[in-house]
Amino acid sequence: MRISYLECTRCGEHLSADRSQNVCSKDGGVLFVRYDLDSLKGKLRPEDLSGRVASLWRYAEVLPELPDNEKPVTLGEGFTPMLPSREYAGAFIKDEGLNPTGSFKARGMSVAVTMARHYGLKKLAAPSAGNAGGALAAYAAAAGMEAHIFMPKDVPMANRMECDYYGAHVTLVDGLISECGRMVAERKIEEKWFDVSTLKEPFRVEGKKTMGYEVAEQLQWKLPQGIIYPTGGGVGMIGMWKAFDEMEELGWIGSERPKMITVQAAGCAPIVKAWEAGKSASGTKSASGMWSSEMWADAHTFAAGLRVPKAYGDYLILDILQKSHGTAIAATDEEILAAMRHWASVEGVFAAPEGAASLAAYQKLRASGFFRAEDNVVLFNTGSAYKYLDVIEAQEKKVRPEPPTARHIGGIIGPY
Ligand SMILES: [Zn+2]
Repeated sequence: MRISYLECTRCGEHLSADRSQNVCSKDGGVLFVRYDLDSLKGKLRPEDLSGRVASLWRYAEVLPELPDNEKPVTLGEGFTPMLPSREYAGAFIKDEGLNPTGSFKARGMSVAVTMARHYGLKKLAAPSAGNAGGALAAYAAAAGMEAHIFMPKDVPMANRMECDYYGAHVTLVDGLISECGRMVAERKIEEKWFDVSTLKEPFRVEGKKTMGYEVAEQLQWKLPQGIIYPTGGGVGMIGMWKAFDEMEELGWIGSERPKMITVQAAGCAPIVKAWEAGKSASGTKSASGMWSSEMWADAHTFAAGLRVPKAYGDYLILDILQKSHGTAIAATDEEILAAMRHWASVEGVFAAPEGAASLAAYQKLRASGFFRAEDNVVLFNTGSAYKYLDVIEAQEKKVRPEPPTARHIGGIIGPY
């Protein structure tokens, strides 16, 4: 629907959506898109959605309205399967690996690139830990726009290769995503790039919030008791939380909320650290009353999407954890690798390392009694393992010298 205004999540300032915007000019706060949902109340009902297109654009009324002569830039993203776990009666796997470009990043880029084109922008730039770059490159290609992507040089091979094939301009950086972000910031004005970095423009959140709408729709409009979300930049969690508030405003759900769980890799867990510190001391919140996290030094994990040493929206993530009575938990690379193999062999889901971290977190939270067997909990698999074959193999070699395939395949016999 028509956007009323953009709202700063720090100071509440209203900005116009008539032109492209990045962040609040006063305090750098993340901007949220606000609509007049009250005018939609009663006119759009959950049952109206049945039979609509199986993509996130089925929720068009709660996404930015386009002029009649403009169409969304879509590759069929969203409305991914909600799979009941075969192992745990209360658990579901929301499989985002089935999106175009193999990860949940497609959702945010579909809406962000749609709006960038609407604003007449030509050149988009972003730092990426891997999958956001691939998604940006694909949607920019579909929109006929330029993509400039800065990625750490050791991202999974698939991310480098897909960006190349989608025709993006790729710069491989000897550093982490924070370094890549600095390079985009330094060059964007001179190069006339629009910065579509995580939470530095308002529409990736709009795309990702549709995961919240899908969780509700696919569970018959009854939210689960918990949602476990692998958190790098945290946009998925931030977007879902926004969606829940919108759905309550529309009268689709009540005031109940799932416990929101952040899972990070033990080798890069700034949100977990800030959450733990905040529980034991009140000093974690800044003078403005906002939570924050510290830059994580020496970030390392093979779950490339979780190598985010400081999330731009950390204050929003920590606020959600608190308001939802959730928690933050870390999983080691060994636990993540074991969870990948377990999920693949038990559920038939070959999850990205970040996604498998959700299983490791769920197992810990069941063992600690945080979740009970009867609680419905949605575990997000944020991407497909097929994009990580090289990093998975390297990780396997670290933990076991013998190649994994040799254990099950009794030798190779030719000809085929
Ligand atoms: Zn502000």
